[in-house]
Amino acid sequence: AKDEGGGEHRPYESTLHANAEERRQLEGSLRKALENNELLLNYQPVVDANRENVVSFEALLRWNSKEHGFVRPDKFIALAEDTRLIVPIGAWVLQEACREALNWPRNIRVAVNVSGEQLIEPDFATTVVHALSNSGLEPQRLEIEVTESIFLRDPNIARAALEQVIALGCTVALDDFGTGYSSLGYLRKLSFSTIKIDRSFVQGAAQGSAESIAIIRAVVAMADSLEMATTAEGVENPEEAEMIRNMGCTKIQGYYFGRPMGAADARHLFARQGQI
Ligand code: C2E
Ligand code: CA
Ligand code: CA
Ligand code: CA
Repeated sequence: AKDEGGGEHRPYESTLHANAEERRQLEGSLRKALENNELLLNYQPVVDANRENVVSFEALLRWNSKEHGFVRPDKFIALAEDTRLIVPIGAWVLQEACREALNWPRNIRVAVNVSGEQLIEPDFATTVVHALSNSGLEPQRLEIEVTESIFLRDPNIARAALEQVIALGCTVALDDFGTGYSSLGYLRKLSFSTIKIDRSFVQGAAQGSAESIAIIRAVVAMADSLEMATTAEGVENPEEAEMIRNMGCTKIQGYYFGRPMGAADARHLFARQGQI
């Protein structure tokens, strides 16, 4: 630019600057979030589509920062992935979720989200083993949720890590199915126990989109023949629940059956439902 070297900044430059500075500050705080006890887990119920009883909880990470207040997961998790802070944070999530699940009835499982960055660490399976042995949780009660994006960069390493976890007795779910990089080839490469159908299809179907309805039906039919379960994500009202049930999904997750809640509220749910 002509005025390069001058003291003047154009507005867009200072905006970029502010964003970089904000990001740097956020990263500094995130680096200390674990030791400052600013991270916590919420738990969202997943119910059986027909009986509507809780079958599992998905652990969802929350950050209540002293410096920045409550930071949205979509913001700080992407940052944690970019900086690889997701590796120590993700290990903590596994520990914490396994420990909390011990407070639930034994037939209730816990699902933990795992990023590709965690999977390509050479000791991912060891991290899982430690979370299980330190807590005493049976491996059968732990489900790992991954998205198709893990197959983009190091598909063989990611698959090998997940196969180790399956060998331990845990299960793996394919999250956000139908978004991004969907390829049916992934379903052949690993024995997923569950396909989670992204909320966008549930929303589309609820609004009468023939395409969304056809896609959900096709995914359910395919999952059935592959002997995989299906979870519909983001079901918000009884009409959507009824529609999803009629399309043959096996499990439902969404605000209608329960929002992500604190650990204490998740425990109380069983007392209310008489499941204990
Ligand atoms: P996800 O794994 O697809 O999780 C489901 C998201 O949908 C959650 O958002 C949940 O609060 C939201 N949700 C559930 N039911 C409904 C509904 O009925 N309506 C609507 N509008 N939303 C619903 P959340 O908690 O903000 O998490 C966002 C994403 O952050 C997650 O998407 C997951 O990809 C990631 N994430 C969360 N916790 C962790 C973690 O511990 N580790 C990693 N690596 N990623 C995590
Ligand atoms: Ca998930
Ligand atoms: Ca999802
Ligand atoms: Ca998602």
